[in-house]
Amino acid sequence: MLLIYCPYCQEERSELEFRGAGDAHIARPADIASISDKAFEEYFFLRDNPKGLIFERWRHMHGCGRFFNAARDTISDKFIMTYKAGEPKPDIGVAAEPHAPVETYEAAFSENAEGEAQ
Ligand SMILES: [Zn+2]
Repeated sequence: MLLIYCPYCQEERSELEFRGAGDAHIARPADIASISDKAFEEYFFLRDNPKGLIFERWRHMHGCGRFFNAARDTISDKFIMTYKAGEPKPDIGVAAEPHAPVETYEAAFSENAEGEAQ
């Protein structure tokens, strides 16, 4: 079971107590009513969805109920660190650990042109 460290409760708790809440550090436009539809689309809907290091908001739903931020590796699904909401984005470059190959269904069961499993 994945354990997530809540920076408010200051302990690791089961992932079942938490809920992801999207990307962290999204800057809301100062005067949102005056921006173009294109600018609103970019602010509200478009996300980078990078492979590797990502900064996300999480909520300790079945604990203290508070929002916090996390740096997570999307390949290994490991939490690199968590920190309180409002704290600046930590200056960490890439994921701390090298990645093990990810076994996907497509890689394991893909077929070549002759229909033979690889
Ligand atoms: Zn908590």
